[in-house]
Amino acid sequence: MLDNGIQHKISFRGVILSVQPRSNVWRYRLDNRTHNTTGYNIFLKGDAEGVTKEYAVAISEKQQQKFHFHIGDEISGTAWTKMYPKLEYADYYRVGGLKKISEAPMPDEDKASPWVGEVPELSVYDWRGCRMLAATSWKSKCFTCKWACMSNVAIEYDWGVSQKFRYESFCYGPKNCKLYKMGKPRAVPYKNYGSVYDEGWLDDICTERRGEEE
Ligand code: SF4
Repeated sequence: MLDNGIQHKISFRGVILSVQPRSNVWRYRLDNRTHNTTGYNIFLKGDAEGVTKEYAVAISEKQQQKFHFHIGDEISGTAWTKMYPKLEYADYYRVGGLKKISEAPMPDEDKASPWVGEVPELSVYDWRGCRMLAATSWKSKCFTCKWACMSNVAIEYDWGVSQKFRYESFCYGPKNCKLYKMGKPRAVPYKNYGSVYDEGWLDDICTERRGEEE
């Protein structure tokens, strides 16, 4: 059962700490791991709902294409709290009234990882595919990287009857990135069958179009 939150509209203003793709992932045992990018998560430090904190807002691809948000920009807008908190990693979505209050210098695109340059279009992420990324790496060294992603995951637990939900971190970056760590294999449960473990070979399938340096 999904808990249904009571939604309300909020105002926010903050400095960008990271911009990452936003995606929904569907898992079914080891037969399927489908990634669907839906926009971007903007991680901010600043005010939201009258409190100073770190938080994330989900924006669309069109909004990112219009504003070219990147790390260090100060932005403001309105957004809504979540209808279904389990389904969405970002704290707020349905963002409107976006403004860029001040713009930070564009980061060096050629700098070594983590890559902090402007995020590409979603079609680039879709083409590249991704590998599992250790949650500890996502939180620390990889957090500012445009190839890092915290996904909303739905696990088909009892086909057509029930799903389980969680968040998982992934990396769309070059396979030879020195900061990359897969982390532990991930359990994918199914009713009456226990769990099977995603140990990495689904990563190979998801990124089969790319070579080691891409
Ligand atoms: S491991 Fe992936 S997310 Fe982390 S810095 Fe390297 S490319 Fe970026």
